Amino acid sequence: MSGTLSVVGLGPGPERWITPEAHEALEAATDLVGYRTYLARLAPKPGQRVHDSDNGDELMRARHALSLAREGAHVAVVSGGDPGVFAMAAAVFEAIELGPPELRALDVRVLPGVTAMLAAAARLGAPLGNDFCAINLSDNLKPWHVIERRLTLAAEADFAIALYNPASRARPEQVHRAFALLRAVRDAATVVVFAKAIGRPDEEVHVTTLGAADPGFADMRTLLLFGASTTRVLERPGRAPWVYTPRRVEDERA
Ligand code: SAH
Repeated sequence: MSGTLSVVGLGPGPERWITPEAHEALEAATDLVGYRTYLARLAPKPGQRVHDSDNGDELMRARHALSLAREGAHVAVVSGGDPGVFAMAAAVFEAIELGPPELRALDVRVLPGVTAMLAAAARLGAPLGNDFCAINLSDNLKPWHVIERRLTLAAEADFAIALYNPASRARPEQVHRAFALLRAVRDAATVVVFAKAIGRPDEEVHVTTLGAADPGFADMRTLLLFGASTTRVLERPGRAPWVYTPRRVEDERA
């Protein structure tokens, strides 16, 4: 089998946030596979075959990509952000695990990209400067009670939290439930950031507090950041504030 499969991260939006390695893989590909919205960001080369699909079944998309590679194609499976963060890379390995043993002989590579939480954090300053966790609020692939438990425990442990997929047309209510959970655990003064369409022309960053935030502002292009108790907002006259979380955590038991 001489085909190859690269799982490529396109970053959150702008061309200059795509790594040179990812560019090379996209150039070298005979076949591009991915969700329509991500593929639309690329200009396919003449002769390159484009296999777009709806956002639906990632496992089916992964199987299709693997079968193309088995036939000798050089396949690039594209994801937004980083392909390993709530995206296609895990679907590819699941398809390999469940598929015929020959798939394990394939040359499969994962090429990292800038994930949304890091792009958003960079815009703000350094909100993820201390311990943090990332939680996907979508219950498409996991039970809601698991999400609730993880959110609550992360809040109790005082992690900064990056919340991916906070809302969509099909799931408008869950972000309100997530806020209710966090409000039960964290101080109302906790810093909250809505980072919308980071790196895109319609980028919007909204810094507020857990007490004052309107969860309804979140949509499917928003990454939500909840600060730790130590996260600070540095106001600047006439400009957007900086947000950072100090490296140091004081020993309250000392
Ligand atoms: N693999 C992607 C995440 C896919 S999940 C990555 O690493 O970034 C999709 C979610 O990512 C969206 O619902 C949103 O929460 C977040 N996201 C993706 N692109 C974004 C952007 N440009 N600005 C803000 N959030 C974004």
